[in-house]
Amino acid sequence: MCYADTAANDDGTVTAFCYCGWSTVRATPEAADDAAVCHRADIDDVESLPAD
Ligand SMILES: [Zn+2]
Repeated sequence: MCYADTAANDDGTVTAFCYCGWSTVRATPEAADDAAVCHRADIDDVESLPAD
C-alpha cells in the first residue's frame, strides 16, 4: 500500500511523492495533498482487484 507525502520546493511549488517512485509537482500545498490522496486511492483500487 502506498503512502504519498508532500514537500515544499524552493520555487514555491509543492512536490507530492511516494516511496514507490511516483511523484508529481503542484502549484499549492492543497493541490499536492489532493494529488497524494488520489495516488493512494488509485493504488488501493488496483490492489483490491481480484487476483485471478
Ligand atoms: Zn505509491
